[in-house]
Amino acid sequence: MFDPVELAFYHNETLKKYEEKLSEEQKQKALKDPHARRYPRPCGFTVHLVVGCPFDCTYCYIYDMNFDRTPKPVQLKPDELVYSLLKNPNFISGRWGSLIAIGSISEPFIFPELALDYLRELSMLGNPMQFSTKSYLSRSYSETLSHIKTTLNPLVTIVTIELTDILEPKAPSVDKRLETIRNLSSAGFKVSLFLRPIIAGVNYEEAETILKLAHEAGANAVIIGSFRITYRIYMRLKELGLNLRELEGRVNMRKLRKMPSKQFTVPLTQKERSKLILLAREIGLTPFKSACCSNSSNAGVTCPSICFETGFCTKCPNMCQERPRPAVARVKEALRILGLTVCIENSNDMILISDRKYRSLVQVLSRRLL
Ligand code: SF4
Ligand code: SF4
Repeated sequence: MFDPVELAFYHNETLKKYEEKLSEEQKQKALKDPHARRYPRPCGFTVHLVVGCPFDCTYCYIYDMNFDRTPKPVQLKPDELVYSLLKNPNFISGRWGSLIAIGSISEPFIFPELALDYLRELSMLGNPMQFSTKSYLSRSYSETLSHIKTTLNPLVTIVTIELTDILEPKAPSVDKRLETIRNLSSAGFKVSLFLRPIIAGVNYEEAETILKLAHEAGANAVIIGSFRITYRIYMRLKELGLNLRELEGRVNMRKLRKMPSKQFTVPLTQKERSKLILLAREIGLTPFKSACCSNSSNAGVTCPSICFETGFCTKCPNMCQERPRPAVARVKEALRILGLTVCIENSNDMILISDRKYRSLVQVLSRRLL
């Protein structure tokens, strides 16, 4: 059972090991890295093994964030990256600690041997880890991945079969990705299909076929995600001749034109989302509305993003809402052990905190709304 005090002790011990392992120079380098400071995304800590991506997907927003098409490994060595995370004030290590998500601004397996080095070192933290990929991962590579000592949740992205030439011209083929699902699931992983982005009026109708193919290949869950657009992405899709009438009705086009670097969500309707959730269940896949649920469910821990409180819960077998939550006194004690001064108060099963900058950490420790 989850105890925040044990988690805090575990974190301090892990940190001590890395304090002793790394030289002063390495520690200084790690502290300057954004992993040591970045506030986590709602779904956990995005950890980057590579920066920049050569796959050039038409719908990808990383090129609006000043990343380019030439991939480069991150500047930190694997143990420096781990230290950097350990020093982030919102990060806590351990199985019940912060969720880690890899692959948000690049393809993590562009440098396959390097990816293994990073994943092995990150697994020393014990946190639930998830990666999303479009790469072909062979049978033997998948076997090697399966020996990594933490709960690892693979997400394989497939969003189209008919429009790959337009939407994902340089990514590995869908057949190769289905083979990746096969290889990972044969190696013992619970693989989730990452069905994101679903672009209203463009690839929505393909979802049923993709769900069936992924299930046949061995996937056991699906994450159904919407689409984030920028003006540059909109223009690129338009120039490629796609019919964007449906999409244009769901986003504020005036704002999109006026704020070209801002990302806007193009939502699915409630009806569309419910239809896909139902279809997934009929096919035999566990549906998730958010990636953190897939990660938490795979690790068998209560979702620290509190999806079970915020309308994102699809009531998967993980049953977060039924699990007991730690007493507030234990959360306070954990914060004290971590050396943090954060006043917290319990009110109607919500937690009120004095310092918002530790919001994510307190949410992970308490599994409550803040
Ligand atoms: S593989 Fe992912 S990161 Fe790379 S271009 Fe496609 S969407 Fe972007
Ligand atoms: S029970 Fe709900 S909140 Fe928990 S992991 Fe499953 S879908 Fe997410």
